[in-house]
Amino acid sequence: MKGQPRRVVVVGAGVVGLSCAWFLQEHGAEVTVLERSEVGAGASWGNAGYLVPAMVSPLAEPALLREGVRSLLTPGSPVSVTGRPSAVKVAFLAGFARNATVSRWRRGMAALGPLAMEGLGAFDELANGGVAAEVHERTFRIGFTAGQDTAGFEHEFAHARASGQEVSYRISAGYEAPFSDQVARVLHLEGQRFVAPGAFLDALAEAVHERGGEIVTDVQARSIGFGPGGPRVDTWAGPPHRADAVVLATGAWLPELGRRLGVRVPVQAGRGYSCSIRLAEPLTGPVYLPGARVTLTPYGDRVRVAGTMEIADRDAPFDGRRLDAILRSIRPLIDGADWEDVREPWVGPRPLTPDGLPVIGATKVAGVHVAGGHGMWGVTLGPVTGKLLARQIMCGTGASELTPFDPLRRLR
Ligand SMILES: Cc1cc2nc3c(=O)[nH]c(=O)nc-3n(C[C@H](O)[C@H](O)[C@H](O)COP(=O)(O)OP(=O)(O)OC[C@H]3O[C@@H](n4cnc5c(N)ncnc54)[C@H](O)[C@@H]3O)c2cc1C
Repeated sequence: MKGQPRRVVVVGAGVVGLSCAWFLQEHGAEVTVLERSEVGAGASWGNAGYLVPAMVSPLAEPALLREGVRSLLTPGSPVSVTGRPSAVKVAFLAGFARNATVSRWRRGMAALGPLAMEGLGAFDELANGGVAAEVHERTFRIGFTAGQDTAGFEHEFAHARASGQEVSYRISAGYEAPFSDQVARVLHLEGQRFVAPGAFLDALAEAVHERGGEIVTDVQARSIGFGPGGPRVDTWAGPPHRADAVVLATGAWLPELGRRLGVRVPVQAGRGYSCSIRLAEPLTGPVYLPGARVTLTPYGDRVRVAGTMEIADRDAPFDGRRLDAILRSIRPLIDGADWEDVREPWVGPRPLTPDGLPVIGATKVAGVHVAGGHGMWGVTLGPVTGKLLARQIMCGTGASELTPFDPLRRLR
């Protein structure tokens, strides 16, 4: 195809797909978003809503690998591997083990640095362009029990600083609400933000729609190909969608349609659970409990609790035992919660890659692009991904920040 694309079809209405749609519109594209279920049906709705560039890092690292191996023998632990051994899962676990080394983690940090650096700026662009979502800047507090070490976080922050981010934090003694007296030290991290992800997604979808974009729900893409008229998306019902360009943004479902596009990176679901509870004292800002790997985020007059990494089939049924385990793990650490009033139970699949890097860019099929695989950090990095990929598609010039995320890369 020659010239600037005019019509673009985006497959998947999560934070990444909708961000791509919005930034494509900035360049004048006519956009249609196809979603097999409803907006936010994947990982983008019930997550913790942290926008924390300072904490963006590849998931694969030696400590997590050790924890993963240990947790296979420990029921109820925050990391687990369940379900059938599918080809994607086996390839993911093998690749994850190979990538969980210090040198690869460093390389991953260097690749993610420029993306993280521009992450919050892309949220400002959305706000300035009329996306009516509330984005809050508050102090994040990370609570450590007596035996736990702050060094891992400080190490990560040093890398974030080295890549150009301003990271400001201090460490104090614990003993402040909502932490129980088991939390001995608190790290206060400044300059980061959070959103209510569902409300944010609604506002983004609304903005795409108001600017003339079409969001078609309950339509599942079946295959993506290239014909005489350019790229086309076939669906399980209705006529094919022809376009000048296509973006595949199907989160943990990426392998389904991605393989035939040459995307061999095994994107695996790392399922997380959330719910809301009420605290006696309203939460002033987000809280993280690293021992339990659980987040607490202000959520209206309640608090969203989120956690767990379940390497499992992305469509497996909700498992209430996982949510119970999350709540059990934080009970000794949080005071003043009503543990009986648990609402909005949710599960969603983080799209994980073995090297901890997303897949963003062109595929082997002309005019067809991929955006996904952001793992733990798809909300933080969704808008900047949309911004950079839209520029690459619409201006035809490669964004150097995206080079390490080549969807056609061969994993070592
Ligand atoms: C418990 C939990 C907490 C998290 N907390 C944070 C956080 O605090 N900060 C942060 O930055 N990130 C967080 N994340 C990660 C973040 O939620 C994800 O990285 C992000 O939502 C991925 O967005 P996505 O658009 O790529 O995928 P998704 O949101 O999963 O969207 C993909 C969409 O594609 C659709 N789809 C799939 N196949 C098809 C098809 N064939 N045709 C049409 N549509 C299709 C799906 O229905 C889905 O709606 C968290 C995740 C979890 C689970």
